[in-house]
Amino acid sequence: MLRCQCGRNFGSRSNSNSKCPRCNKKTSLSTIKSFSSSSELRDAVSKANVPDEIISELSSRLASYEKSERSNEGLTSDDIQKILSLAKLPDDSVTLSSVNESMITLNLEKMSPERLMELLETSSMVLRNPNNSWSVLQ
Ligand SMILES: [Zn+2]
Repeated sequence: MLRCQCGRNFGSRSNSNSKCPRCNKKTSLSTIKSFSSSSELRDAVSKANVPDEIISELSSRLASYEKSERSNEGLTSDDIQKILSLAKLPDDSVTLSSVNESMITLNLEKMSPERLMELLETSSMVLRNPNNSWSVLQ
């Protein structure tokens, strides 16, 4: 059984002419164990690979999850300033619909306007008014 540096284990009859089935390299292989029968070898290879496969599956899911989280929250403070200044009504307040419109106009629809206002309230950049609008505090 051979192991590649990429973590893939696989069986081979001879070390000299093998390539890793995952990354196709032959330079980074090391022999883990030799087996007398091919069925022993096959079992050992599949057992050795199971944790790796699960780990790489999990980490790729995690990576795509983090990516989507990041793009959801991906408004920079510059973006937010632009959205707010465009969304401001004559009395310096903003509403969900004016924020929504300016997000669309600026092509910055990276989160819902509700979520954005929630974030802005939390960070005290806006103050909620009783009439469903927000005063921009800066
Ligand atoms: Zn490899």
